[in-house]
Amino acid sequence: MSATAASPVEQRTLTLAPEGPGLPDELRRRLSERVITVGERATMEVRSPFTGEVIGSVPACTPDDVAEAAALAREAQQLWRRTSFAERARVMRRFRDLLLDRQDEVLDLIQLESGKVRGHAFEEVADTAIVAAYYARTARKHLAPQRREGALPLLTHTTEIRHPRGVVGFIAPWNYPLSMAITDAIPALMAGNGAVIKPASQTPFTALWVVERLYEAGIPANLVTVVTGSGSKLGEPIIDAVDFVTFTGSTEVGRTVARRAGERLIGCALELGGKNALLVLDDADLDKAVEGAVHGGFASAGQLCISIERVFVPTDLHDDFVARLVEKVEALELSAELAYGGDMGSLVSQDQLDTTRDHVEDAREKGATVLTGGATREDVGPLFYAPTVLSGVTRSMTAFDHETFGPVVSVYAYDDLDQAIDRINDSDYGLNASIFTSDGARGRDIGARVEAGTVNVNEAYAAAWASVDAPMGGFKDSGLGRRHGVEGIHKYTEVQTVAGQRLMPVIGIPGLDDAQVAKVFTVALKVLHRIPGLRRP
Ligand code: NAP
Ligand code: MG
Repeated sequence: MSATAASPVEQRTLTLAPEGPGLPDELRRRLSERVITVGERATMEVRSPFTGEVIGSVPACTPDDVAEAAALAREAQQLWRRTSFAERARVMRRFRDLLLDRQDEVLDLIQLESGKVRGHAFEEVADTAIVAAYYARTARKHLAPQRREGALPLLTHTTEIRHPRGVVGFIAPWNYPLSMAITDAIPALMAGNGAVIKPASQTPFTALWVVERLYEAGIPANLVTVVTGSGSKLGEPIIDAVDFVTFTGSTEVGRTVARRAGERLIGCALELGGKNALLVLDDADLDKAVEGAVHGGFASAGQLCISIERVFVPTDLHDDFVARLVEKVEALELSAELAYGGDMGSLVSQDQLDTTRDHVEDAREKGATVLTGGATREDVGPLFYAPTVLSGVTRSMTAFDHETFGPVVSVYAYDDLDQAIDRINDSDYGLNASIFTSDGARGRDIGARVEAGTVNVNEAYAAAWASVDAPMGGFKDSGLGRRHGVEGIHKYTEVQTVAGQRLMPVIGIPGLDDAQVAKVFTVALKVLHRIPGLRRP
């Protein structure tokens, strides 16, 4: 598109724009035409959380559209699976450059659709660029055929080979409309798969925009198809049409995805909720810990699976910590501007606002103290909620163990470190944790005792998240499978063992009867594996 004339950049002051916050016509039309439909379809409106106004609409796809989207991707994948890693990597690097060069366009879209501030939207651009560069560089190494120990030393030549699965389905959430729509597809594509993406109904345009960048970078026509529409209607048809499904969203829907995938006997990866804790140790730098709690608690207004909702502080430091935390939180500037500057944006939907308000009101009614926040901020936008800090939260309150997925952090004092760790682990979830200490080694040791898929020492979530060479995902009800690193690409492959035998069969020796074979083998089994040089092929 011409990035100038019709660019959403011109609508920066969207809350004030007399013509409303809609996307430029040309962009809206072009992106929604990318959605796969096999006939005329009703449309679904997309509203900006900043103002509640309609910014565009996309087709409400049907199961027929899903089948078509999968068939197109499947056909394109036949060609793509034969391309070299070098070619795929070239495409992926081009994609990263296009994304970085044209980031203003997508930052606008992310902000408009999700209501987050630009700084938080940029985290998604950075994340996507990091993941694209990482798998462009490492896919070949991760997927190279591996020699394995053969059945018989010297006589069996055994190799592990990885094939693409075929077409992978991605059901994405609205909280990270760029990152969550595309970063999981990147390793799948690098492994030679096609993809069908269903973005959240709230955030289709960001997904469509980034898929357009993949085509611009050079993926073959139809390799990545997008269907838009209600997840409850399209979820099953997607799972039924693909060879693997990756879902990010609520634990409740995650279970239904896993059930359906189980029936079809296809694999699935799930990244679900969390009730993530930040543990302040007695030797921590309090200002840094407060900084971590603010970033971890209020990035994307707390609508982040790895965000911090519980903070544990030694009793001796509690009052000092809370005073500093409240001061910092009260200084956060809420913003609905399409420009850098604000510290926290809007909640994404009325549902998320209601959940947040319910958790806080329930805690307040049952005796918790609202140290700051605890109110809607309609003065900034219809779905804004003040960043909130609670203390005195007890087990009877919803906010104690249910994920709020909003800008609410509860602070707890602790006397005994073991007890604090037990309380952190006393959760159905186990996604992310954070530990603040001036002794990094101690932090890492304690981290290994926390039941969470990622643990960050002296960071809230970004250190582990951005370490994309290492796996990321949930223990317990927080998910199944891992993204990032070698696991993040192996899951998109079907692994095959090819074993070649020479000179004699593995069982049976020409000229000997079964009893003689058994004797020879018994001796061999006792002796052979003791000879170090013969252990490996
Ligand atoms: P959700 O319902 O799980 O939505 C996530 C994605 O799944 C969306 O694309 C959604 O489509 C789709 N979906 C909905 N019902 C489905 C079904 N039956 N089968 C297959 N896909 C389906 O999440 P939500 O309702 O938007 O948010 C609720 C809670 O989920 C949040 O409060 C939070 O606790 C959690 N959540 C977690 C993450 C995370 O990053 N782990 C992200 C988002 C939400 P539609 O948009 O069309 O409904
Ligand atoms: Mg839902």
